Amino acid sequence: MNGPLAASAIASAWPGLFVLFGLAFGWAWSIEKKRHYLLLLTAACLLFATAAFMQIMLLPLDIGANTIPTGLLYTLAVLAAAEAILRRSGRGMGWKAALGAIGVITALLWYFYYIRPNLLVRIYVQAFGYGLILAATAWRIRALRHGRLVDRVLFWVVAVVAIHFFPRTWLTFGTDATASIEAFGASLFWNMMQLLIAAAGTALAFALLAAALTDVMDDLRRERDVDPLTGVLNRRGLEERVARLFRNAGAPLSLILCDIDHFKAINDAHGHAAGDRVLATFAGVLRDSVREADLVARIGGEEFAILLPGMDVDAAMAVAECIRERLAIHRFPVLGATESVTASFGLAQRDGSERFQAFSARADARLYRAKREGRDRVVAADMPLTAGPAEVAQPANAASPAA
Ligand code: GH3
Ligand code: MG
Ligand code: MG
Repeated sequence: MNGPLAASAIASAWPGLFVLFGLAFGWAWSIEKKRHYLLLLTAACLLFATAAFMQIMLLPLDIGANTIPTGLLYTLAVLAAAEAILRRSGRGMGWKAALGAIGVITALLWYFYYIRPNLLVRIYVQAFGYGLILAATAWRIRALRHGRLVDRVLFWVVAVVAIHFFPRTWLTFGTDATASIEAFGASLFWNMMQLLIAAAGTALAFALLAAALTDVMDDLRRERDVDPLTGVLNRRGLEERVARLFRNAGAPLSLILCDIDHFKAINDAHGHAAGDRVLATFAGVLRDSVREADLVARIGGEEFAILLPGMDVDAAMAVAECIRERLAIHRFPVLGATESVTASFGLAQRDGSERFQAFSARADARLYRAKREGRDRVVAADMPLTAGPAEVAQPANAASPAA
């Protein structure tokens, strides 16, 4: 610690690494500002780097004036990291627990420096304190151990870093910790321990960085592929998944195209905002009517596509009929108690290795035919028309057509 400046400069390199981690989390936050936990991680890294730098460079020079503030900064860093990890999983530590931890650790450090000076106990206080905070955090995010690879890695890194604080403290026994602070600080044992904590912190920061980048990438992908109004896929999202599905040739695949009837009249009668609400509710009805594996997408203003893997056109026809019947009884809050929404459906089953354009063009032609034949009906490949109310019956159901 009191070695030549060059040695200090090398020793301060790893706090520098945490400044870089802090900047990386800050940069990730600038991309996805709604992920507040990234800001907490920035703070945790910068607090950790500051504490480590102050400790290594012994700033301020007085040991007491160094011990208490660096202890406080380390505690704040650990709490910020723990809170960030919990928030990422939709939880939180609560300010009472955080203030309690800060109060207890700082008070004990102060007591065992100024009242009953004991370096060993101070080491215990910090190591057990941080071990317990991280162990409690790992326990609360334990569901992640069944999740994706980044989540599993994060859980285990937090758990191992938490556990490592306990044996490392016992190992301090038998060292010259009770001798002079300077001698202990210069000992190989202490420097190895510092190296270990640096390695643990670095592993944790890497695991968190991987998790954060995955989150940000997921968000960007979602923003790119999902329609914000209805929460279902947009055309781009559908096309990307179609390409993936098409690689799995052989299984039947059906497409339902559906278009809300007289939607312009709904907009005209109730306003554009109400029309937006109808679109969102309509998409919800579609989503609720299909299986988890089916794809629902909004491919135009009031036009939707449903892709049904593993279904032939007869099964798809039953799904479309079911949606049509659901719509007849579904109440759209913005339209009042009496008005319902109808839609027309065109279906197609993929023919061999047919391209999506050709496949959807056939469904589109049948949708057009459903409209022409009177709306509120399902038209499937070479099938007779299903019974549906005649066009003249529409104004009772939907808003009056804007003629
Ligand atoms: P049809 O039964 O023949 O399908 O008649 P339609 O009125 O549903 O179809 P048309 O194509 O004439 O009108 C579609 C309307 O959808 C026109 C457009 O203003 C409206 N629209 C498109 N996108 C949105 C949107 O995001 N929100 C709202 N509120 N309206 C939209
Ligand atoms: Mg329409
Ligand atoms: Mg349309």
